[in-house]
Amino acid sequence: MPAASPVVKPKYPKHGELRPALVERVDRYFAETGKSRSGGFRLFAKAVVMLTWFWGSYAAMVLAPNLAWASLAAISVGLALAGIGFSVMHDGGHGASSRHTWINRVAARGLDMIGGSSLLWHFKHNIIHHQFPNVEGIDDDIAAEPWLRMGNHTEHRWFHRGQHLYFPLAYSFLSGKWLVFDDFRSMLSGRMGQLEAPKMSKLQAAEILAWKTLTFGWAFVLPTVLHSWVFALVTFAIWSAVSGFVMAIVFQLAHCVEEADFTAAPAKGERLPQTWARRQLDTTIDFAPNNPFLTWYLGGLNFQIEHHLFPLVSHVHYPALRPLIKEVCDAHGAPHVTRSFFGALGSHLRHLYRMGHPEPQQPAAPAQPEPLQKLAA
Ligand SMILES: [Zn+2]
Repeated sequence: MPAASPVVKPKYPKHGELRPALVERVDRYFAETGKSRSGGFRLFAKAVVMLTWFWGSYAAMVLAPNLAWASLAAISVGLALAGIGFSVMHDGGHGASSRHTWINRVAARGLDMIGGSSLLWHFKHNIIHHQFPNVEGIDDDIAAEPWLRMGNHTEHRWFHRGQHLYFPLAYSFLSGKWLVFDDFRSMLSGRMGQLEAPKMSKLQAAEILAWKTLTFGWAFVLPTVLHSWVFALVTFAIWSAVSGFVMAIVFQLAHCVEEADFTAAPAKGERLPQTWARRQLDTTIDFAPNNPFLTWYLGGLNFQIEHHLFPLVSHVHYPALRPLIKEVCDAHGAPHVTRSFFGALGSHLRHLYRMGHPEPQQPAAPAQPEPLQKLAA
């Protein structure tokens, strides 16, 4: 059966007063403080810590005397891998690590080093997710069918009634599936979710394959040579499950919660119901902003509102920008929602439960009999 035609990207209504007011306030902050919008030395130091953590854990894993010790090291590999994604490649992929393009490119390549394609991620994350958060049928980050139902406009299946219980298992497969399946599917199909992916050159395709070969080398070949294929598979299962779960839950606590809006992709020619800035605020929350460890490890992704409104600003500035942005939102009657970590987790669980137990469709009301006097007339 031929694949359905790709969906056309929806359009937004024209910007209202909110976006210019936000931009003016953030511009004023950087003008007054004289700070650069990029990450600077703090980000460089963080990248060194994350990379040392990752390769140190990997060395401990492959040089471990037995599978039990290697399994412990694999947990550390998974946590470090997610940390590189949050704190190194994410800023680089947005062009926020540095004023120098080549430094951003190097930082973005951190994703290729740990198994995902930075080229395909750019389209999936910067073009689709950031432009159209929680638009069902467009935002690939909430497309978890058939396993999970994230929004009201996604088909409900009987097993979704248990998704608030089995979601950790589904999240644990995210990283491994991405590494060994998703990028290849996008390359072969030319699609990212329901959208047409940009055409890639032969050189770009060769570059993706070269990085994937390198990843398969450190993930499977070297552990098999030093130990056995069972060792390689078990350690891969552990580190990919840890990194997949951590990456998924961080995303979900910001976007897949009770407070977030989910919208069906509008029909061709129709626009989304809100302006771009308002959509970011309607679909995103901050969590645990006062937790310094989470703020450091998550690369500021617990400040997703600030990130979605200003993705070109490095995450090291989000804690300072948050109260300024909230002030503008309050003045314009726009939401700026913050939860504690456990508050956001509870909200995510309730959202999963609600999506798994949709309200039964109300039967259509029976037609009212026509008034007698009208019939008599
Ligand atoms: Zn982002």
